Amino acid sequence: MNFQPVLDEIVATLRPQFGAAGTVARYIPALARVPAERFGIALRTCEGAEACAGDAAVPFSIQSISKLFTLTVAMRNMGDDLWQRIGREPSGNPFNSLVQLESEQGKPRNPFINAGAIAVADRLLSLSGPGAGHGAGSDGKAKADLLALMSDLAGEPIGYDDEVAASEAATGFRNVALANFMKSFGKLDNDVAAVLDMYFHQCALRMSCVQLARAASFLCRDGEHPAEGRQEVTTARQARRINALMLTCGTYDAAGDVAFSIGLPCKSGVGGGIVAVVPDKLTLCVWSPPLDATGNSLLGLKALELFVARTGLSVF
Ligand code: GLN
Repeated sequence: MNFQPVLDEIVATLRPQFGAAGTVARYIPALARVPAERFGIALRTCEGAEACAGDAAVPFSIQSISKLFTLTVAMRNMGDDLWQRIGREPSGNPFNSLVQLESEQGKPRNPFINAGAIAVADRLLSLSGPGAGHGAGSDGKAKADLLALMSDLAGEPIGYDDEVAASEAATGFRNVALANFMKSFGKLDNDVAAVLDMYFHQCALRMSCVQLARAASFLCRDGEHPAEGRQEVTTARQARRINALMLTCGTYDAAGDVAFSIGLPCKSGVGGGIVAVVPDKLTLCVWSPPLDATGNSLLGLKALELFVARTGLSVF
C-alpha cells in the first residue's frame, strides 16, 4: 500500500483545525512557547518504507513517549524482576496522580504513568552502574546510555533539550512528590534527586515524527532492530507485551476510548506527540501540540482515527 496519499489527505483534512482547539501544555514553561499550529505525521513500514507529511521533520519534546523506550531498556535487562516494583494495570487516574500510591504502598499501577516511569528511571540508574546518576546537564552515564540507544534506533544523533529539562526540574512539584513518596516506601534504590534528573531528561528528549516512527519500529517488527541485520532490540514476546501495555495504559485515562475509537497501541506525551503501532505492518508518529482534557494531543487522536478509517488497519 502507498501511504503517502493517506498522510497528505490527513494533513489537508485537518489543516483548518491546526491550533484551533485544545491547549498546549503550560505547566512546563518551556513547552508553553511551542507554536500551537504545528502538525506533523510520519510512518515506517516493517519493510522500511517511509512516508511523511507536514512538520514531520521538526523536532519536538517527546515527553511521556520516552516512557516507552525506558521501559524497553528495563524489560530487556531485568526480565520479570521489573514487575516486582511496577504493575501492569490501567490507573483510571490522571498521569500525575498521587492517590493510588498511598493505598498501594508505593507500587505504581503501570510504567506509563509518571510514578511508574520514575520507578523505571530508578532501575535505569541501577542498570547503568554505580554513580550513573551523577553529572550535571546531559552528562551522567544513564543519560548518556539512553541517548546512545535513541540515536542508534533513530539512525541519527538525538539530544536532550536542557532548557526543557531545567524547566521541568524547576516546576515539577508533583513528580518530586511522587518520587519522595515511593522512596518513603523503600521502592526507589537511588537518590531521589538523581532519579528525577534522569526522568526530567528523558522527558526532554527532542525528536521528530520521522525519528520516532523509526525508533519505535521494533514494536511492529517483533522486536527486530529498525536497521537490517542488527541484534534484536527486544524479544518478540517483549515487543508484544509493550504493545499490550500501550493499548491498555499508553494514553492515560483515555486508553479505553482510544482502544474503542482507534484500536491501536499508542503512547502519547504532553509535547503533543503520539506513537502508534500496527503490529506486523508499521509504526506511525503524529504531532500536534494542543492537548485535550486527558493530556493527549487532540488533533493527534483525530489523525489516528482518520488513518484507521482510511486504511482499515487495527489490531481488532
Ligand atoms: N514531563 C511530563 C511530566 O512529568 C510528562 C507527562 C506526560 O507527557 N504525560 O509531567
